[in-house]
Amino acid sequence: MVNSNYIIEIKNISKSFSDKMVLDDVSLSVKRGEFMTILGPSGCGKTTLLRLLAGFNSASKGEISIDGEVMTNVPPHKRPVNTVFQRYALFPNYNVYDNIAFGLKLQKVDKKEIEQRVKRALKMVGMTDYEHRDVQSLSGGQQQRVAIARAIVNRPQVLLLDEPLAALDLKMRKDMQMELKEMHKSLGITFVYVTHDQEEALTLSDTIVVMNEGVIQQIGTPTDIYNEPCNAFVADFIGESNILNATMVRDRLVRFMDKEFECIDEGFGENTPVDVVIRPEDVYIIRNAEAAMFHGTVRSCIFKGVHYEMFVETPDGYEIQIQDYNCFEPGTEVGMMIKPADIHVMRKERTENHIEGTLVDATHVEILGETFECEAVEGIEAGESVDVAFDFSAVELTDDPDDGTSWGTIRFILYKGDRYHLTIRTDEDEDIFVDTHDVWEDLDEVGIKIAPSALRITKLTK
Ligand code: ATP
Repeated sequence: MVNSNYIIEIKNISKSFSDKMVLDDVSLSVKRGEFMTILGPSGCGKTTLLRLLAGFNSASKGEISIDGEVMTNVPPHKRPVNTVFQRYALFPNYNVYDNIAFGLKLQKVDKKEIEQRVKRALKMVGMTDYEHRDVQSLSGGQQQRVAIARAIVNRPQVLLLDEPLAALDLKMRKDMQMELKEMHKSLGITFVYVTHDQEEALTLSDTIVVMNEGVIQQIGTPTDIYNEPCNAFVADFIGESNILNATMVRDRLVRFMDKEFECIDEGFGENTPVDVVIRPEDVYIIRNAEAAMFHGTVRSCIFKGVHYEMFVETPDGYEIQIQDYNCFEPGTEVGMMIKPADIHVMRKERTENHIEGTLVDATHVEILGETFECEAVEGIEAGESVDVAFDFSAVELTDDPDDGTSWGTIRFILYKGDRYHLTIRTDEDEDIFVDTHDVWEDLDEVGIKIAPSALRITKLTK
């Protein structure tokens, strides 16, 4: 008998399609009865992970256990899971009852039992008395409820839900979110839910798994993920935020926008480069200019239903997003303050680019599949492997096809108050990171140029 607290255990799962890695060493445990949400941008591998759980695909590496049993050789219909898809996938020619009863009839379940179970499932999804309705006459929300009833009628231990509300309009989606939460409570089974909608994830889940590019970024409760994002990607993806380059001066003192601020974080060391995250609702516009920590000019102010969203520009050129119940008209000079507890300090994942390359000759190095000119290198032989470091700001980007030394695609853009921090996946499948003031868009193809003097080349010691 299995007595683990965990109903699902995913161990070191990787999945590639052709040579493209879609999931990279994913490990994750789901508690019995938990509402777990896998959250991430389009293409990050959420659906692939769900399909591996359902058994529709098999992993390239790693192992999945459900209820203590390794699933590697267990076909989808023998797994204790059922899946609800984004599109309802109902049989259009069957009525509600026959749609829900379909699987049970195939399993040759006794007719009376089928009737009882279908009725109970309909009650669970709030659709008693709908059994004879033609499914095509139902609204999107009602059809999705039928799809959920069809999944729970099999009494799965785990319900897998792949963006089940994505096709519904906003009002219906909000209503269905509440109903799903209720259903989860009364069914008492485990829900694994996939969405790219941060608000939906924060509303519904006990635990959120944030993914990007096939890698888990953070696992935590909605409050943890919102208040304590572990890196700039999570902070940017979950809600609105100001993310700025900063230096941790010492414990409880951080410097950004050329000013020192008290904070409550410790243990980062002294003069350490960090990122800070400040939520727009945590920047206060104060009327007493003397007491302000910094000043700026309101550049835009838009009413968002409950609060006003403003962008304020400081004299040093930083743009700060602020939410406030009061409107400050564009052009107004304002003073601002931030409480120490509202400054969230995060370790930087990197502070410069490091790429492996090969020295071609004393003044040329091969990186990113191309030959780049460098300043004369001494003490390293041609053909030796080298580490090539360069600053984020040392890269010049171009869209002129005759200009770039090598090429890549913009995969992620992070606005840092006074600059954009771009992640570029090169044609050689390596990531480089670039700071720029120019405005580029996601998926833009860019040529990469680096001045010879910016390349710092050292012998690679393995
Ligand atoms: P979305 O929200 O857009 O569905 P997702 O996070 O669910 O995104 P996946 O559907 O898991 O992402 O896809 C991850 C990556 O794997 C994508 O780049 C996708 O094109 C690729 N992919 C998924 N299924 C296949 C397949 N059968 N063959 C080849 N590539 C695939």
